[in-house]
Parts: sequence; structure tokens; C-alpha cells
Amino acid sequence: MALIVQKYGGTSVGSIERIRNVAERVAKFKMLGHQVVVVVSAMSGETNRLIALAKEIHKEPDPRELDVLVSTGEQVTIALLAMALKDLGLKARSFTGWQVPLRTDDVHTKARIEHIDDQAMRAALDSGHVVVVAGFQGVDAAGNITTLGRGGSDTTGVALAAALKADECQIYTDVDGVYTTDPRIVPEARRLPTITFEEMLELASLGSKVLQIRSVEFAGKYKVKLRVLSSFEDEGEGTLITFEDESMEQPIISGIAFNRDEAKLTVLGVPDKPGIAATILGAVADANIDVDMIVQNVGANNTTDFTFTVHRGEFKKAMEVLNRVKTEIGAREVSGDDKIAKVSLVGVGMRTHAGVASKMFRTLAAENINMQMISTSEIKISVVVEDKYMELAVRALHQAFDLDKAPAA
Ligand code: ASP
Ligand code: MG
Repeated sequence: MALIVQKYGGTSVGSIERIRNVAERVAKFKMLGHQVVVVVSAMSGETNRLIALAKEIHKEPDPRELDVLVSTGEQVTIALLAMALKDLGLKARSFTGWQVPLRTDDVHTKARIEHIDDQAMRAALDSGHVVVVAGFQGVDAAGNITTLGRGGSDTTGVALAAALKADECQIYTDVDGVYTTDPRIVPEARRLPTITFEEMLELASLGSKVLQIRSVEFAGKYKVKLRVLSSFEDEGEGTLITFEDESMEQPIISGIAFNRDEAKLTVLGVPDKPGIAATILGAVADANIDVDMIVQNVGANNTTDFTFTVHRGEFKKAMEVLNRVKTEIGAREVSGDDKIAKVSLVGVGMRTHAGVASKMFRTLAAENINMQMISTSEIKISVVVEDKYMELAVRALHQAFDLDKAPAA
């Protein structure tokens, strides 16, 4: 007998029919003799609908009340799923976040989990119940409802698995695993049977939307056995997220991530002296704008150029900030471009293999794609290219690194 935590996303519980399908899958695991804890998201579109309602009242809704509002989406699905399970003859009990209780800090709309009391869930499991928990929500020390940030049900699932020392945490979604890249762009993309935590963390932060990044961090920290599976297929192993030392030889590159969510800003002719980067980025941070890649050129004639990227939605605001600091720091010119895309290669094998960067650059050069920025970490190389070449870049790299072929066993 194993203890399994299963998390179902919004599309997997998007209709009554789908909720019944979830109940049937859960029933199968029960029949095999396992204990099952199910975490559900709100029905697809519901959280957005609720946020839109709040914004009709005020464009920046009160965070405490917003949490009270958006947490209702998950309360609907736990009740419906518990009913569907009972309809199949199973014992089931729904739990809101505060009934668990899942304690968080008091940072509304992006609360962090502090403690999970497993007693009530254990008692229900031990008396033969399927435990159905509302994802995304918790309660702070003062009893206020909190939520964990968009996509937070993944984190609920992993956190419950950690607290209950579950044998496995299964994330059911509308794809059947983690792919080498998005199959909508590269039809030859392959499902990865395994991927390491570090790679998954990079992919999540680079814009792959399979798992909420915090859930991956959590799983890594508490060594939760995590698997991504399709809720629409019965067969399939999905993708198991592993610790590096478990598997032997790693492929050099595991996946290619990309995103179009960024914009690039450049300050030209900045005096090349200490404190300038701090002044520029300080002003940007004061405006609450997150910065991603940063590049500073070698200086010439006592000046240098300074380029960085921000979320595309903050491009205008960032340009305004730069035009303001331009005079303050004596820069010559400010320019910007929001028609860019970032393409990244991720793979733990990069650590031990030379030549990945040069192969990447050669591949892009052969397609006549210009790289505007480059940044690297131990297991990742990212380049910024013109937006319209993004798909071509991803396809060319996928082929060049043989990602369509399963690595030799
Ligand atoms: N319902 C929440 C959202 O849409 C949480 C989740 O689905 O994971 O962000
Ligand atoms: Mg999700």
C-alpha cells in the first residue's frame, strides 16, 4: 500500500464530465489498495473570471478580500469531486486550506507555506477516505484566507506530499509529461521519461508552463518524488523528476525553452565609472520592475553601453524610468526593443561537456539568426534573438542537438 498525492489542474476538472473522470482514476488507485490525497485547482477559467470581477470594483483590489474571492474556485471543485467519489461508492472528504490546516505567512496573493498539520488528513485516510484538498489556498496565523500565487495548486500538491511523506506526487495536466520543447513549435519534440530537478527548475523559470516554479523548488528541497502525467490518457509513465545522482549518464541537452515575454532596453554612452549600473538598476527596481538578463559592454572612450531585459508588460514603464535617469547619469541615449525573444538550452550534461555554446552559435549562424544578447549559467545558455526568428531558432537547435532522437541506452 502506498500513499499517493494526485494534483489535477483546471482543465482536468473543467466540467462535470471531467470531474467524473478524475473520480474514476482516483477510484482505480483506491482499488489497488493505495491511500489517495487529491489536490484540485479551480475549474479552468474560473480564477481569471473571479479576478476580473474584482477588477470591476477596483483596479487594484484589496489583497485580503481578493484571496477570499479567488479561493472560492477551489472550494467548488473539492465539493464536486468529493460528491463524484461518493457517487462511485467511495468514502471521501473535502478539505479547504483552513480545514487542513495549511498555514502560510500573511502575504496575501503570494503567501508562502509555513506549516502543514497532517493530523486531520491522516485520520481521514486511516478511516478509508479519499482526502480531497483545495489547492492554492491556506490560512495565516490570524485566520485570514491566503493564496499561494497563480498556479499555486502545484505547490499545494507537492507540499502535502512532503508533509505526508507520500510515496509519490503525481501532477495530472493536459500534457502527458515534460517535452524536449513545445510540440506546437517542433512536432518532433519528445516526451522526456526523466528530467532532473535542476533542469526542471531552469525550464520553469525560463517560461515552460508545465509546473509552477515554487512547486519544483519545494520538491527539490524535500526530495518529493514528482511525476507529471496526462489526465486525459490512461496509459503512460509521464515524466519523472529525478535527482541527478539517481540516473547515470545524462544527455548533454535535455530541453529548449523560449519566451516572448521580454523586452530589451539599452543605455548608450554611459560614463564608465563605479556606481553607474547601481544607479540605473536602482531606479528600475524602485519602480518595481524585475530585471532578467544584464549585459555591459567593455568600455571605450570612458563610456560603455548597458543592456538589460524586463517583462514585456513593463517595457513602457522601464523606458520612462531610463529616460529620467539618462540626464542624471549623463548617458548619451536610451533605446529599446520589445520585439525580441529568448531561446535557452538547458541540460545538466553541459557541466561536463565543452562545446555546447559554440555548437549553439554555429547553428544559429547557419540560419542567419543574429544573437543580440547571450547569458549562461552552469546548466543553461540563453540568447536573445529577433522575435520573428524565434521558432526557426528553436527548430534548428532541436535538430542540431538531436533532441528528436532518444539517447542511446
Ligand atoms: N486556480 C489557481 C490559478 O488559476 C491555482 C491553480 O490553478 O493552480 O492560478
Ligand atoms: Mg496549473
